[in-house]
Amino acid sequence: MPCSRGSDATNQALAASYGGMSDTHILPPPPRVPGLGPIAAAALFLDFDGTLVEIAPTPDAVAVPDHLPGLLQHLTERLGGALAVVSGRALADLDHFLPVPIPKAGDHGASLRPDPLQPALLPKLPSPPPGWRARADALVARHPGALVEDKTHGFVVHYRQAPELGPEAEALLAAMVAEDPLAFTLLEARMAWELRPRGASKATAVHELMARAPFAGRIPVFIGDDVTDEEGMDAARSFGGQGWRLDDMFGTPQVLREWLAEAAAAA
Ligand SMILES: [Mg+2]
Repeated sequence: MPCSRGSDATNQALAASYGGMSDTHILPPPPRVPGLGPIAAAALFLDFDGTLVEIAPTPDAVAVPDHLPGLLQHLTERLGGALAVVSGRALADLDHFLPVPIPKAGDHGASLRPDPLQPALLPKLPSPPPGWRARADALVARHPGALVEDKTHGFVVHYRQAPELGPEAEALLAAMVAEDPLAFTLLEARMAWELRPRGASKATAVHELMARAPFAGRIPVFIGDDVTDEEGMDAARSFGGQGWRLDDMFGTPQVLREWLAEAAAAA
């Protein structure tokens, strides 16, 4: 499968295989569910870690294939701008790994940049007291390999390199949330616990984007691999769209990337 622009021959073959559909912005069916049929007038929402790229031992160690940023930019153009990366990472982090002007939502929806050329929208959300971060630092310091990742309105304790820390990290962050349960909530991610403010989620990011051109009126498809993506998937379904779990529909990020290249040729 080519991972760059599809050739005319590829486009013609895809058009023929889709029964000569005249609609634009078509997404092909996912490889593991070919009976689903292509989706026309689509908007695409993509998680980053574990979805577009393979999970790495630490967040900084993620390997982004050279062709991926360009592929996402090309597919965004083919979808008339209706593609967004929706991640738990900070926007600056997403910009570092995907240095292309496409819509992005970071911090689980707590920072949103629908227009790549405009500043991010930052809803008013609480930030945790400084003492909480210090308590997390003290815990992590006792477990080599564990680390604390800062978010705009919270932080994450990663214990992939120190699995024994999991229960203790959960207990500590849960105790913090219990001090201010109306403002904060605890989120389980892959080998990580995240303390984050209430009021923002991947669902709110989908709702915000679907209220704006060019997403409004499209059929949203949300693709993710993790618990936090379920909210985004549910939001997509609430707009008559679909939520696809990477494992079920693609199997691996590599297969998803190949499908994205196919979609770029078909859209
Ligand atoms: Mg993920």
